[in-house]
Amino acid sequence: MREIRVFCPATIANISCGFDVLGVALDSVGDEMVVRKVSKKGIRITKLTGQDLPLEAKKNVAGVAGLALLEASDYDGGFEIEIYKKIKAGSGIGSSAASSTGAVWAMNELLGRPFSKIELVRFAMEGERLASGVAHADNVAPALFGGFTLVRSYNPLDVISIPSPDQLYATVIHPQIEVKTSDSRSVLRTKITLAQGIKQWGNVGGLIAGLFTNDYDLVGRSLEDHIVEPIRSILIPGFDNVKSEALNAGALGCGISGSGPSIFAFCKGEAIANKVGESMKEVYQDIGIDYDVHVSKINTKGIRVI
Ligand code: ADP
Repeated sequence: MREIRVFCPATIANISCGFDVLGVALDSVGDEMVVRKVSKKGIRITKLTGQDLPLEAKKNVAGVAGLALLEASDYDGGFEIEIYKKIKAGSGIGSSAASSTGAVWAMNELLGRPFSKIELVRFAMEGERLASGVAHADNVAPALFGGFTLVRSYNPLDVISIPSPDQLYATVIHPQIEVKTSDSRSVLRTKITLAQGIKQWGNVGGLIAGLFTNDYDLVGRSLEDHIVEPIRSILIPGFDNVKSEALNAGALGCGISGSGPSIFAFCKGEAIANKVGESMKEVYQDIGIDYDVHVSKINTKGIRVI
C-alpha cells in the first residue's frame, strides 16, 4: 500500500468535570487527509484546502507530528500529505489534533503498523505542542483510540479507553467568535479548595461509572464543573442561555468544548440531540452571532480509512 485516505474526527476535550483528562471523538465532523509514501526523505504537505494554514511541514501540526514519527522510525523514505480541512482552527473541537493524529495514524498504516496507539499519541502530542505550546493529549487520545478516553497520567503516559452507551449523541454549537487561547488560559486559577476537589472527583467517578453502565441519568448528573466553567464561560457570549436551553430541550448535560468557544451537550438519542441543536441555535440567532451546529453519534473507532 502506497497511499491512504483517512477521516480524522473532531473531538471534544475538557468534558465538564473531566477538565484536561476526558475527551471524546465525534463521527459527523472531521477532516480528510491523503498520505502517500514516497522515496524522497522528509515530509511535504502538497495540498491544504478549507483553512488558511501553513504548508511548511515544521509549521503545520501534521508535519511536526509526522516528523516525530519519522525520527523514531527506521524507514528511509518520506511522505506527502494532503489535508482537506473541515474543522475550523480554533473552534474548540480539536482541529489541530485531527491533523496531527491523521498524519501519524496514516503513516503507521503505510509502514505496516510498527508503532502502538500510545506511541502514536506521543508523536501527535508534538503537533499539539506546536498548536498550543503544550503537548497535551486530551484531543489526540480520543481521535486515535475512538470513543471516550481518560488521560490518567502523563508521566508515564497512561490513556484509558472508556466505553459509552449506544444511544449517546453529542450536539456541538460553534459560535463564530474568536476566543484567544491565551485569554482562556489566563483566566484559569491555579488553586482550588478541598471542597471543590471533592465535588469534581465525585463527578468524574460518576461520569465514568455512568458511561460503563449505560446509565444516562448518572452521566447527566455528573456533567458538572464548578471549577473551570464558571470562569471560562464568561468569555463565551450566551453561554448560560445556551446551557439552560439545551437542558430544557432534554440534554443530559452541557459544557464548554475544549477551551471554547464551542459548547457541547450530550443527549440520549438522535431526536433529542437535534432538538437540543435547534434550541442552541435560537440563542445565537437572537444575539445575532453566526454559528455552526454538529449533531454526532459518539465515534467509537476513531480515525478510519475512507
Ligand atoms: P481547537 O480549538 O479546534 O482545538 P486548535 O487549538 O487545535 O484548535 O489549533 C489551532 C492552532 O493550530 C491554530 O493556531 C493553527 O494555526 C495551528 N495549526 C497548525 N497546523 C494546523 C492544522 N493542520 N490544522 C489545524 N490547526 C493547525
